[in-house]
Amino acid sequence: MKVKSYAAYSPTSLLEPYEFERREAKADDVVIQIHFCGICHSDIHTARGDWGPVNHPCVPGHEIVGQVIGVGKKVKKFKVGDQVGVGCMVDSCGKCENCKANEEQYCTKGAVYTYQSNEYDGKSYTKGGYATHIVVKDKFVLKVKKGLPLDRVAPLLCAGITTYSPLKRYGVKKGSKVGVIGLGGLGHMAIKLAKAMGAEVTVFSTSPDKEADAKKLGAKNFIFTKEPKNFRALAKKLDLIIDTASAAHDYAPYLNTLKIGGTHVLIGVPATPTEFRGGPLIQGRRVLTGTLIGGIKETQKMLDFCAEKKIFADIELIKAKQINEAYDRTVKGDVKYRFVIDAKTF
Ligand code: NAP
Ligand code: ZN
Ligand code: ZN
Repeated sequence: MKVKSYAAYSPTSLLEPYEFERREAKADDVVIQIHFCGICHSDIHTARGDWGPVNHPCVPGHEIVGQVIGVGKKVKKFKVGDQVGVGCMVDSCGKCENCKANEEQYCTKGAVYTYQSNEYDGKSYTKGGYATHIVVKDKFVLKVKKGLPLDRVAPLLCAGITTYSPLKRYGVKKGSKVGVIGLGGLGHMAIKLAKAMGAEVTVFSTSPDKEADAKKLGAKNFIFTKEPKNFRALAKKLDLIIDTASAAHDYAPYLNTLKIGGTHVLIGVPATPTEFRGGPLIQGRRVLTGTLIGGIKETQKMLDFCAEKKIFADIELIKAKQINEAYDRTVKGDVKYRFVIDAKTF
């Protein structure tokens, strides 16, 4: 099937219209007409080569919602007309211990990501959701309940699951004290989700003008991080930090706000490394760890949780031709709080 999309042709060029063929549906495939696709900062890191060389043309996009327009003959879970989502993965081995534990993102053979990943056929690489259609193995397609604002659901497929997963893993509940570093796409979802789980949320931000929004989104406290003294009042107060900053930053001042044994979870993947000394870990038996998206089963749980609690992303809906401007504004931290592309405009 011929699809319209937007692609990066080099790390330094703008994204431009691109037409290509999607594969014919195999027996276990679902054919999806995309309605909306969010713009994740990972799309920008990838397209611009922050994480290393990429295959071109590169079609990013892994926050996809749409409607089923066809199914392979073995597909039981979906039928034409269903509303569905696709997140960051489209395949995995299905046999290793991590796949069996519903953590396909840590597949020992290597999960196939929605874009810029080699397919198991050994021939092609994946192309993502900045497109009119996508063909995905049924196991990696999520159900989206009817009646939800689909454009605001799209960012849940990455920003939602990536923040939901560590909040659950580290047992956030009523009264937990959670810090969120970076008020962007992932950060604003982390605030909403942590608040819905009963936590008291502190936002750490480099942008003082985001304070009112942070509070509206559910945060109790707001720390402007460019002023070191602002960290003092929080020493040894937090249980958990969700670190979504997209640029390199010193972890030490944040670690010192954790209680003894508290956990700082890295989510952001800056282009440059951070120099790090172990003092704040040693002096507080603290844990510095990381997390990668979430498994398919957990993603479905997150979507159902968000539907029940009416948690959706705050978005700016754009046309395809505005993608390049949206990239520049995201890098500047100027987005409230996720750009979402209307797929009708490809
Ligand atoms: P985003 O919307 O651009 O938000 C990132 C936020 O980071 C910015 O809004 C800004 O917030 C903050 N920031 C920027 N520069 C900073 C600095 N020097 N120090 C501290 N904070 C800084 O990006 P996103 O889409 O939420 O993605 C965030 C990061 O997570 C990206 O690196 C992305 O690739 C990564 N990611 C990882 C996973 C995973 O599975 N681990 C999944 C998705 C995305 P303030 O203005 O409030 O400071
Ligand atoms: Zn993402
Ligand atoms: Zn596996």
